[in-house]
Amino acid sequence: MILVFIEIRDGKAKKSSFEALSEGKRRADDLNTEAHAVLIGHGVEGLASELFSYGASKVYVLENSLFAHYSASSYSQALHSLTEEEKPEIILFSATSMGKDLAPRLAAKLGVSLASECTVTSTKEGKLEVTRPIFAGKALATVTFKSSPQIASLRPNVFPLLEDGAKDGEVVKKEVVIPEDQVKGRVEETLREEGVELDVTEADVVISGGRGMKGQENFDLLKELTSIVPHSAVGASRSAVDAEWIDHQHQVGQTGKTVSPNLYMAFGISGAIQHLAGMSSSKFIVAVNKDPEASIFKVADFGIVGDLFQVIPLLKEELKKALSE
Ligand SMILES: Cc1cc2nc3c(=O)[nH]c(=O)nc-3n(C[C@H](O)[C@H](O)[C@H](O)COP(=O)(O)OP(=O)(O)OC[C@H]3O[C@@H](n4cnc5c(N)ncnc54)[C@H](O)[C@@H]3O)c2cc1C
Repeated sequence: MILVFIEIRDGKAKKSSFEALSEGKRRADDLNTEAHAVLIGHGVEGLASELFSYGASKVYVLENSLFAHYSASSYSQALHSLTEEEKPEIILFSATSMGKDLAPRLAAKLGVSLASECTVTSTKEGKLEVTRPIFAGKALATVTFKSSPQIASLRPNVFPLLEDGAKDGEVVKKEVVIPEDQVKGRVEETLREEGVELDVTEADVVISGGRGMKGQENFDLLKELTSIVPHSAVGASRSAVDAEWIDHQHQVGQTGKTVSPNLYMAFGISGAIQHLAGMSSSKFIVAVNKDPEASIFKVADFGIVGDLFQVIPLLKEELKKALSE
């Protein structure tokens, strides 16, 4: 059986978890087994039915008032006890901040290895085989597992959603008892940055600025673009973050976030390897840079050599026209 962890944010299951579940179902079909999903939370049973359509034949609901807010120690204990009981052969996570926090903890508790940030999955001789970028995206490694269960986290926005999954399946509720003193940390409250609706890792379109933006106030130009383009978010290079023009949560790259949106737009970003590590798996890349030799053009599908301060207003008008049609 393949078990897929479903992440819940603001009372909803995340799209990236549906992607992981859809991929889990495809591999389960290859291996002639089933894909099961696990929900951890408090009062989350209502989310189970949606998971059948993405390939889960069974949904485990692990309930405890302690799970109302995410905590690595309580969630990993819950997953550990479910794994010991149900013995999945493969466990999949989405490589979100939560998935990146939780998957290694579970792997360590089980004493098995983990393949993180995978961009391709397949099966070989009855086992999972995954491909993942290494050395900041300079190379791709294809790996299989020696230990069991095989645990992998999948990069968000890479794997297609399953269409026409089943309408229903089985819901298995489990009470998980975790002694209070075993919970080492507790999240009291999650605060969102004011005016930021969407995280860069979840956006379909990421509109990023680098040192070429020249100042904090010019990031407003990018915010204006995100207000026109649906499901978009502002990203940034590390230079822009280090200059304190924008908060670190927007940073894309090796020491920032990894994004794979349908469209990545880079304004005044040179394309250093550490930046490319976080965005080169985007489906389409558009770069605007006044230097025709900038490395970003090597990965861009479309490039504009020009001054971003001239290009952005023109682009804004064109986008407005195109999106209002
Ligand atoms: C260990 C380590 C980790 C790192 N992690 C990250 C990371 O996570 N993310 C990251 O981004 N970087 C990271 N870096 C830094 C990285 O090496 C680069 O220094 C950084 O990405 C450069 O940012 P930039 O492209 O905005 O700036 P620059 O390299 O200075 O490029 C600015 C670009 O703007 C263009 N430009 C200027 N004015 C205009 C204009 N008016 N119109 C159009 N174009 C213009 C210039 O031609 C230039 O290409 C890391 C570095 C190290 C050593």
